[in-house]
Amino acid sequence: MPPMDADLLQRYLEFYQDLGIKTLYRRAAPAPEAVAPAGETIPQNTTQTTETDRLRHARETLPQILADMGDCRRCRLHEGRSKLVFGVGNPTAPLVFVGEGPGADEDAQGIPFVGRAGQLLTQMIENTAKREGIALNREDVYICNVVKCRPPGNRTPEPDEMDICGQFLARQLLAIRPKAICALGGTAARALTGHKEGVTKMRGRWFQWRDVPVMVTYHPSYLLRPYNQDAKREAWEDLKKVLHFVYD
Ligand code: URA
Repeated sequence: MPPMDADLLQRYLEFYQDLGIKTLYRRAAPAPEAVAPAGETIPQNTTQTTETDRLRHARETLPQILADMGDCRRCRLHEGRSKLVFGVGNPTAPLVFVGEGPGADEDAQGIPFVGRAGQLLTQMIENTAKREGIALNREDVYICNVVKCRPPGNRTPEPDEMDICGQFLARQLLAIRPKAICALGGTAARALTGHKEGVTKMRGRWFQWRDVPVMVTYHPSYLLRPYNQDAKREAWEDLKKVLHFVYD
């Protein structure tokens, strides 16, 4: 694409402003096969993508999105990361699990949910499916996080970090086109649905990300804490609901 003149740039900026997009970043280098036109500014948005975003990114694949992320330095979280943790699993999965952000094990391996919480998540998915008569392994679903780099000390991601990284989550979801999403914990639930309630109020209920149903449940790290029997039972109920919705 030829360089944009000032007039065209001005019109683009006004267009994005009209869509309610407040922050824009300049891509450092065009991705080799990215569908979005090279050299163009990309809106920094939350996971609530606009129709325009959907059309722009409609034909993207996960490898193209990963290539566009590149050696991402778009927010401060890159400073402390070892590996960017993009996502893992079936690129056409009917069910996507979304967590908050990588922990230490994930940061070291570059794969989401591989530490203690991840092992619990795998058990929850596979054991619940088996008990419900659904043939399903971890590899059959897709697993990712709201932010792709580990927040220092495992703190909750800041709103601007979620805003910047949220566009990649949105593009992943648009590429996968799942039948349903399972939000793990309050951060993922709020990022995906825009609702501000706590996870105890949201869990077990259906929300939406665009037109995709979102089931909210507890984060596996929360379930690892002692004396959480009730929460474990509730998470199991939530998981049963989403599995039957997707696979029946
Ligand atoms: N917690 C998360 O939210 N995501 C991971 O990948 C691991 C732990």
